[in-house]
Amino acid sequence: MKCVVLDSGAIFKIDISVLPFSFFTTQSVLSEIKNRRTVSRIDFAISAGRLSIQNPNNNSIEKIQEVATKTGDIAVLSHVDIDVLALAYELKGSNEDVELWSNDFAVQNVASILNISWRSPEYRIKSVLIWEFKCPGCGKRFKKLTHDGLCDVCGTPLRRHRKKRVMR
Ligand SMILES: [Zn+2]
Repeated sequence: MKCVVLDSGAIFKIDISVLPFSFFTTQSVLSEIKNRRTVSRIDFAISAGRLSIQNPNNNSIEKIQEVATKTGDIAVLSHVDIDVLALAYELKGSNEDVELWSNDFAVQNVASILNISWRSPEYRIKSVLIWEFKCPGCGKRFKKLTHDGLCDVCGTPLRRHRKKRVMR
């Protein structure tokens, strides 16, 4: 089974119980999670054997720090990000088929350099808000904001309204 390493952003987003992977994360990721519901969801995944907690060794951490220093990503990576990258690096080193799930650009960048495959865990359908503008004075609707932000009929400042969500 493919190993998937989750960073702290990814662990919130996905439903571990339904995906056919062997999930890993680090103790430092877990200690960042304060939301009770997420904590109990994760505890359940651990006790069900769906999620393993593994901490990277110092050599892997140093390797990540070295690469991230070269790329400049070190400036924005937290110690948790480094742990997660180090764990993915280590699993890959022991010939595991591993993928790192993170939405963080710096994490993705360092992963790419180390040939660790990664993906952004966007399993939820994205919805896009469409806005329209309406004059609170005369009620005229506008698809776009006028150049001065005022109604071209009565001169009242336009207000923005949410029109709809578009799924994509
Ligand atoms: Zn108007």
